[in-house]
Amino acid sequence: MASWKHFLEKEQDRFLSELIEFVKIPSVSASPEFIDDVKDAADWVAKRIIKAGGENVEVMQTGGHPCVYGDWLHAGSEKPTILIYGHFDVQPADPYDLWETPPFDPVIRDNKVFGRGASDDKGGMLIPIISFEAIKETTGKLPVNVKFLFEGQEEIGSPELPEFIAKYRNKFSCDMIFSSDGLQWTEDEANLVTSLKGLVGAEIKVIGPTTDQHSGLHGGAIANPLMAISQLVASMKDEKGKITINGFYDDVLELTEEDRADIARVPYNEAEYIKELNVTELHGEEGYTTRERLWARPTLDVNGIWGGYQGLGSKTVHPSEASVKITCRLVDNQNPEKIYELIHKHVKEKLPVGVKSEVIRLAGSADPFVMPRSHNANQIARDVLLEVYEMDPYNTRVGGSIPIMTIFLKELGVYGIMFGFSVGDENLHAPNEFFRLKNFRRGQEAYCKLLYKLGEQSL
Ligand SMILES: [Zn+2]
Repeated sequence: MASWKHFLEKEQDRFLSELIEFVKIPSVSASPEFIDDVKDAADWVAKRIIKAGGENVEVMQTGGHPCVYGDWLHAGSEKPTILIYGHFDVQPADPYDLWETPPFDPVIRDNKVFGRGASDDKGGMLIPIISFEAIKETTGKLPVNVKFLFEGQEEIGSPELPEFIAKYRNKFSCDMIFSSDGLQWTEDEANLVTSLKGLVGAEIKVIGPTTDQHSGLHGGAIANPLMAISQLVASMKDEKGKITINGFYDDVLELTEEDRADIARVPYNEAEYIKELNVTELHGEEGYTTRERLWARPTLDVNGIWGGYQGLGSKTVHPSEASVKITCRLVDNQNPEKIYELIHKHVKEKLPVGVKSEVIRLAGSADPFVMPRSHNANQIARDVLLEVYEMDPYNTRVGGSIPIMTIFLKELGVYGIMFGFSVGDENLHAPNEFFRLKNFRRGQEAYCKLLYKLGEQSL
């Protein structure tokens, strides 16, 4: 047996007690109440990397919650340098009364560790540190150059990270990035996420008379902003689910046969999906399967619309203004800036008569992220998962965005691979979060194999 395997087996109890100790730190990034706990978690991670044999370990200040860095760079310049990412902050644990056992007093039941952050991402990020230790401890070296970068603000959208990563671009430079913050498809089915959607949003205000008016005195004489905004929003999409903003689809790359086959291969039960959401039927762009629409087609959604009187009973008011927030999820090759301009233009052109408009861009846009199919790191990750799960991993996509992936691509020029071992059913962000011990262990083996496979690469 490879000696790292033996080491993992021998030390498993210790790793488990370390995970429990780590989960005990209530490192909730969203609330100022826990600011020192996030710092404590950073210190814990720094110590753990040192213990594993990492060098140049430091807790780095970002202006917000800190990051932790550590490395081992003696594999030689002909070997790749990989950066392993994860986060040690967690979601708030509220509502506490829905937890069967306290969120920050982790317990093991049914071969699962229950506690806030066990799955997202403390269990996940401890895995590569353990694998690093197993190889370092048993062979005295690593097959590749390794950089660890763990952050404490992922759950609040990594606000300081774009500037931070840009500032330390040289320190974090690498050939490949693996994120421990990722999901496998099910408990025993492997998965590689190959794309994330981008995002852009706008708030549109439609303005009528200076103040609210009496509908009996002025109704019928002037345009009603709420009616106008409804007509405007309705003009953005047809009944068949196609977005009718001029030019919206111009840059979208059509799905290839291979893309469609990848999506079709992932198990999916439409009846169950309808039942889960409790809707009468599904609805969306014609010509695409539900999964294709969810994963690989751009969307436009109305997130909120308001104006006029919303209190009890009736009030015969003619409102002075109305507002709507819309966001679009974007796919490969679409540009948030350009889509925003198209929305703006559409509002100008389609605004009903008798009202004025104001459009502002909402914060939080993101570029779409698509892993090139033949990407080397993706192939290596695929080979490892195939070996560990004994199945060819699914190529799945995510309809949401993960800002750090786009930040890495933009600032370091490197595509990140999500190489994590949590499963979507582990109550992430919800009460009774848990992490399966089986996958805690399986992930350690996978990261060891990954490091060795990467070590076979020469630059
Ligand atoms: Zn996470």
